[in-house]
Amino acid sequence: MGQTVKVAIVGAGTAGLSALKVVQRHTDDFVLIDPGPLGTTCARIGCMPSKALIEAANEFHKRHFMPELGISNARQLRIESREVMKRVRLLRDRFVQSPVKAAKNLGERYISEHAVFEDARTLRVGETRIKAEKIILATGSKPIIPEAWQHFDERVLTSERLFELETLPESIAIVGLGGVGLELGLALSRLGVQVIGIEQGERLAGVADPDVSHWALESLSTEFPIYMGHQPELDRDAGQITIQVCGERVRVSAVLAAMGRRPGVLDMNFAATGLPVDPQGIPCFNPDTLQVADSGIFIAGDTSGGRAQMHESADEGRIAAYSALQGVELKPYQRRVPMSIVFTDPQIASFGARYDELDLSQTAIGSADFSFQNRALIMGVNRGVVKLYADRKSRKLLGGEMLVPKAEHFAFQLATCVHNGMTVDEIVHLPFYHPTMEEGLRSALYHLGEELGGVLPEHFLPYKTD
Ligand SMILES: Cc1cc2nc3c(=O)[nH]c(=O)nc-3n(C[C@H](O)[C@H](O)[C@H](O)COP(=O)(O)OP(=O)(O)OC[C@H]3O[C@@H](n4cnc5c(N)ncnc54)[C@H](O)[C@@H]3O)c2cc1C
Repeated sequence: MGQTVKVAIVGAGTAGLSALKVVQRHTDDFVLIDPGPLGTTCARIGCMPSKALIEAANEFHKRHFMPELGISNARQLRIESREVMKRVRLLRDRFVQSPVKAAKNLGERYISEHAVFEDARTLRVGETRIKAEKIILATGSKPIIPEAWQHFDERVLTSERLFELETLPESIAIVGLGGVGLELGLALSRLGVQVIGIEQGERLAGVADPDVSHWALESLSTEFPIYMGHQPELDRDAGQITIQVCGERVRVSAVLAAMGRRPGVLDMNFAATGLPVDPQGIPCFNPDTLQVADSGIFIAGDTSGGRAQMHESADEGRIAAYSALQGVELKPYQRRVPMSIVFTDPQIASFGARYDELDLSQTAIGSADFSFQNRALIMGVNRGVVKLYADRKSRKLLGGEMLVPKAEHFAFQLATCVHNGMTVDEIVHLPFYHPTMEEGLRSALYHLGEELGGVLPEHFLPYKTD
């Protein structure tokens, strides 16, 4: 059996579905291919269920602050993990409805199969061969589980299985403390699971700024033991798993493998296209158009090995579709200001240029310690640091990194300033209400202004110009 189409979209996740919306406006001659389960990584096993779990954990954790507020009996509060997991799945089921519908409503144009390449224009999709003028590759990624761990069966969990648990394990080792491992480790610990965290690298959640990295380790180590620079070995022991870390043997009832994700394109026989790949096996592509070499293939979302974030995947889906629908001369697309948020408590966030991308000889750095931030003190969340970077010559804000409460809002506010090309002086001129945590941001901006030789006074209450 064979079929010829103008556009084949491979993958019905965030990137694939946002590509679909663009393609649908231009042509009916397309197919969407995905073996399922449908619903997107974000809604089904990623962003959304993880935040639902974190919400329960953080609310329960507030009981420790209640006696200080004069609220008694708070320590009697109990967590019902069965109910927590039920709510996580209930919300998850609601969030997946719309992406599932988007694929299923396509009727015959949705094909429920795994696709592999036969050549640069042909996909083998089950028993069918599909020839496509343009192919949009949006095949996401899968959690990595080391070969040696495969025989531990259901005791080795990934984010794909965690949210299916009826109740939570008694104890768990989180192996890999990137954003995903850290968020889930902290949530599980706050929900009463005995957690240990193990990271083979030297920094938590890929934090680049040394001060933020220091704060992250200090702050999160108070919640559960963290072993940095270790690669654990697993063994079976009387129905449990033993882990060898730092010469110690630790027994846990489960392990969460959070050591990164494998791009889906690696399992698509891409070699059959004859197109170039990088040393990791990812197709070589133009980051401005997402075109793979000079072919009719466009790559979007996690499968390209880039910024593994929901909003970036959605953008890339659109860019890939716009590029696929253009003629020979492809227009380059402007990307958004980079931003990343880890939903720990305090949250970790970065926006704009990262510390390791700066030319330190041309950069001023300002900071504010949130241990003394007044509003944070009132709310009992006075921990962390904000670091901000500005260009010495133009005085423009370049980026920053932070571990503070409300970092999810700060990152957005400051990314907006970077997007608008604002100088530190202009940002300080914006209204900061009292008492808010944004005043803590302003302290970092003032410090940054001092490092630039002083905030320019003409930005305070400037004369009316009309
Ligand atoms: C636990 C967790 C928490 C996260 N939290 C956040 C967060 O808070 N904020 C944030 O921005 N991001 C978060 N992310 C990342 C975010 O979920 C992803 O970046 C995003 O969902 C990737 O979208 P995608 O379209 O590239 O891939 P996906 O949504 O995974 O879609 C890929 C699709 O391709 C299909 N597919 C794969 N191979 C083939 C094939 N050969 N043929 C056909 N179909 C195929 C798959 O079945 C899948 O449906 C989180 C991720 C995880 C795991």
